[in-house]
Amino acid sequence: MDQQYHQILQLKQELSVPARILITTHQGPDGDAIGSSLALYLFLRKTGHDVAVVTPNDYPDFLQWLPCNEHVVNYMRQKAIAEEWIEKAGYIFHLDYNQLKRSADMTHSLSQAQAVRILIDHHPDPSLTAKYFFSETEASSTCELLYGIMKQWDAALIDRDVATCIYTGMMTDTGCFCYRNTGVQTFLAASELMKYNIDRPKIYENVYDNFSAQRMRLMGYCLNSKMEVFPEYKTALISLSLEEQQQYDFVVGDSEGFVNMPLSIRGIRFAAFFLEKEDKIKISFRSKGSFPTNRFAQKHFKGGGHLNASGGETRWPLEKTLQAFRELLPLYGEELNGEQ
Ligand code: 5GP
Ligand code: MN
Repeated sequence: MDQQYHQILQLKQELSVPARILITTHQGPDGDAIGSSLALYLFLRKTGHDVAVVTPNDYPDFLQWLPCNEHVVNYMRQKAIAEEWIEKAGYIFHLDYNQLKRSADMTHSLSQAQAVRILIDHHPDPSLTAKYFFSETEASSTCELLYGIMKQWDAALIDRDVATCIYTGMMTDTGCFCYRNTGVQTFLAASELMKYNIDRPKIYENVYDNFSAQRMRLMGYCLNSKMEVFPEYKTALISLSLEEQQQYDFVVGDSEGFVNMPLSIRGIRFAAFFLEKEDKIKISFRSKGSFPTNRFAQKHFKGGGHLNASGGETRWPLEKTLQAFRELLPLYGEELNGEQ
């Protein structure tokens, strides 16, 4: 019996009596984080458990249409309820993250929790420990990995709503099944999910055609006035100050996808997006090919993530952060130029 199947059976056995189960995910939740959390929420609720999803903070409107979204508890806004869940949970799932600090303000409380931990994640270099540990960097997304687990757990509990959540996370983490992380298993899972009669075009529309007019204008402004291209390093960056965000009525999620835009320029293999926040600069990195953005993020910007998609931050002013990034590029010139 393979290791994963053995773990699933053991977990299923443990959860054969009703329990208080908390599902958590990383700060700034994305489609995979919310998709996997709600898929698992729907799945576990069918077996009579008391279940909650708690996110560390807000997430974009384009993820707020998923089934049972109204039940998600936001730690930032509903701290007392969230704390009670953390304290009283018998089981805590960590979905789509593998370092406790990625849960931001929840980190301390989660580290004190007495619950049995279950990790389901696809990021490299886990530092979080858990009794049940499903960590697979080969998986395109946590949703893909979770789907495989659910099938072995009890396929009869997967329904259209679960399938919708799973498909959403797979779609967003693979850039609509385009990025390098998209594998045979991804397409197999996607085709199986279609058998649940999910509304594929509607899911796409809900996620990608759900922006304000101001957001589209902001995108135009970024491309026109804020993109810096460094052809000698096959790199480009975009940055947005708080003042510029105010000018365009910025809301959470408005800059989603901006980091990818420079990668559409012929020859560009590495892109960075810098978003000024009240207390920090949040940075997103993306690459094509073999340039390891996660190592770069880890080494220089207290971050991490996947090879081609990662993030980090600084506590410096925006301009100082940008300058630090620009000055790093020559150090990586050879590596970046080796990129085809
Ligand atoms: P995004 O740029 O969309 O915020 O994040 C891209 C990927 O990098 C995601 O897989 C996310 O989990 C990871 N990531 C983003 N920011 C950080 C960070 O500060 N630390 C770590 N370890 N991973 C990050
Ligand atoms: Mn993910």
